[in-house]
Amino acid sequence: MILGLLNICCAEYISNEHELYNNIREKAKVGSIKCPDCGNSVGMHGTYKRKVIFTEFDVQTVNIIQVRCKKCKNVHAVIPDFILPKKQYNSETIRKTIEGKDFECVADDSTIRRWKQQVT
Ligand SMILES: [Zn+2]
Repeated sequence: MILGLLNICCAEYISNEHELYNNIREKAKVGSIKCPDCGNSVGMHGTYKRKVIFTEFDVQTVNIIQVRCKKCKNVHAVIPDFILPKKQYNSETIRKTIEGKDFECVADDSTIRRWKQQVT
């Protein structure tokens, strides 16, 4: 399960990763982040690295923060707005490509077809 977060761009996210981690840790500590599955409070779980494709020449690696429910023990990723769950391309590129506004997208035709199917 994924917890959405942060109205923030990728460059901002990368340069503030440490601060964001501390911020989420503080929110978890006071119980203001709730488990999307059972509604209980969460604790910090760790981070993992994730690749985000912006263009053919702009691929960034970001650290994704994970929290773990204190009751049901499920682990949730705290993902920033510019990433969509289980997608390698950034959310803006996917949105523009689906809307037919981004003709620069280098994703495979089959990938683009799948994106379009998922929104209809
Ligand atoms: Zn839970």
